Parts: sequence; structure tokens; C-alpha cells
Amino acid sequence: MYDLVIIGGGPAGLTAGLYAGRYRLNTIILEKLYPGGRILMTETIENFPGFVGGVSTRDLMSRLEEQAKELGVAVELTEALELDCKSKTVNCEHKAYQANTVIIATGASPRKLGVRGEDELIGRGVSYCATCDGPLYKDKKVVVVGGGNAAIEEALYLTRFAKSVNVIHRRGELRASKILQEKLKENKKINLILSSTITEISGASRIESIKIKNVENNREQVFPCDGIFIYIGNEPNTTFVKNQLETDEQGFLITNQELETSKDGIFACGDCRSKSLYQVITACGEGAIAADSAQRYLLNK
Ligand code: NAP
Repeated sequence: MYDLVIIGGGPAGLTAGLYAGRYRLNTIILEKLYPGGRILMTETIENFPGFVGGVSTRDLMSRLEEQAKELGVAVELTEALELDCKSKTVNCEHKAYQANTVIIATGASPRKLGVRGEDELIGRGVSYCATCDGPLYKDKKVVVVGGGNAAIEEALYLTRFAKSVNVIHRRGELRASKILQEKLKENKKINLILSSTITEISGASRIESIKIKNVENNREQVFPCDGIFIYIGNEPNTTFVKNQLETDEQGFLITNQELETSKDGIFACGDCRSKSLYQVITACGEGAIAADSAQRYLLNK
């Protein structure tokens, strides 16, 4: 029996672990893949306070993991398949973990376009991770889909390798922050295609082309390319608590200011929460608040 089980070992979960360790709570972090989470799909964070010129995500996350472990927090690589909110038991494939409090910090996964050819060509030209796959596209023609911060940051990153980066966005203006838009305009390798959607991804053994539809005149064109990077937002990783906790329409967990969910002793932090700002710095801040709320809950029990 633990004082606290933290599900998810990204910035939010690891920071919650760090704070819980300092509160001397008997804590375990369950991480499905590798500590650090999905931020590791990006190479550098430019807006983490205190790091002029940015900080390597790998450096930052491994330091955070070390900091939590040094305080006696256990980190186990296992996937939470189900959380029983009543008994606060996390069921994994080979083991169950029970605790007096639970923090959910499972983040979110990339949303798919849902067009023909997307699933079939994953790993063969269709990617959701420029940091992982970008170097494979040296002197190639690539497409980035989306108009948010992630799409523009990764488009800029891909210009290090690709011959041309074509950003396709469904509306007439980008959602990304102005500073990123300025960088995008300055970059000669980037070509912006606005008011357009992708209707099909084609190729025999690898991607060969995509079909683009202009939403203003409904005209379709075949656009040859060597790779497509999809950055159209995220979906929360909350299926393991399905129907047990209050969520918004998209499944992001609803919490109060103390980051309590709708169930007693269950807290949530980071990108799996319904909120307005999805950043590493906010995930870390929320991790600290969630751990503090968990220890207050235990004190008052
Ligand atoms: P996002 O901000 O939600 O942007 C998603 C983009 O994809 C939007 O431009 C959206 O278009 C488009 N889109 C959504 N569904 C689509 C579909 N079915 N077909 C085509 N386009 C679609 O998501 P994100 O860029 O992944 O970022 C997620 C969060 O992380 C955001 O809060 C973001 O600010 C944050 N983030 C921050 C940084 C940073 O600050 N450095 C870096 C990366 C991510 P519309 O604009 O028309 O809705």
C-alpha cells in the first residue's frame, strides 16, 4: 500500500514525484514507455524559464527523473490498464498497485487526421514526431499539417534537414504564437498553404503524394511529397478511467483549483486535464500543486 501512486512520468508526473518525495510520501510513479513523456518528441524547449536559447528536453527530463528518484520515489515501467477510483487500485498487466491517493498525469496523444492512407503508411512517410524521424528526410520534400505551436515549431525544426517544408493549415490564419509565425515567415524553406485540408495520403510501399483540398473553392490537387508530419492537436490518455471521472466533451479531466478530480483522493495534472495552457512549465506547476493537495488530503484523512 502506497501513500501515493502517480500514473504517468512526464513533466507533470515527475514534478509531482519530486514534491511527494520531499513530503516523504511513500510514492511510486508508473510510466508506460520511458520517463520524460511525450515532450521528448521535441528536441528543445525555448520557453522554459531560466534557459536563454532553450534547453534540451532530454537533459531537463533526465534531471527531473533523477531529482525524484534521489528522494526515494520509485519509477516503474508499466502501463496502467485500469484505475478503480473507489479502491484506488491501478491494475497493470502483471501487477496491481494500491494507494491512499492517486495522481493522474498521463498526458495526451497526437490526434490523427483520419484520412485514407494515414494508418497504412505510418512509419512509411506518415509521422507524428519530427524529432524522431526528421533526420530521415534530408533534402526531401515534406508536409506538416496543422497551424498550432507544435506544427510551426516542428516545421522550423524540419528545415534543418528537408529541402522544402510545406505547412498545410485548414484555416486562413495560424493559431501558433506570433513569435513562431515571425520565424516561419523568415524561413525561405517553408511554404505556407492556407485554407486547405488533406483528403487522402497515397503511396504503394511509401508515401508518394497527398491530396489537398482548398476549402474556399473546393478544388483538389495531388501534391507529391516524401513525408507528412501531423500536428493537429491531442487527445487525452484517459481511457483507463473511462466513465469514472468527470471530463469535458473531448475527454480531458475536469479538476478544481486544488487539482482534485470528481472522485475523493484522485488528482490530475498536466496535459490530461481540461485547461487553457498546455506547456511544460504549467505541467510542472500542476505536478507540484497535485502533490501538495495529495499530502493535505492524507493529513486530513
Ligand atoms: P493546438 O494548439 O490545438 O493546434 C492544433 C492545430 O491543428 C490547429 O491549428 C487546428 O486548426 C488544427 N487541427 C485540429 N484538428 C484538425 C483536423 N482534423 N484537420 C486539420 N487541422 C486540424 O495543438 P498543438 O499545436 O499540438 O499544441 C497543443 C498544446 O501544446 C497547445 O496548447 C500549444 O500551445 C502547446 N504547445 C506549446 C508549445 C510552445 O509554447 N513552445 C509548443 C508545442 C505545443 P484550427 O486552428 O483551425 O483549430
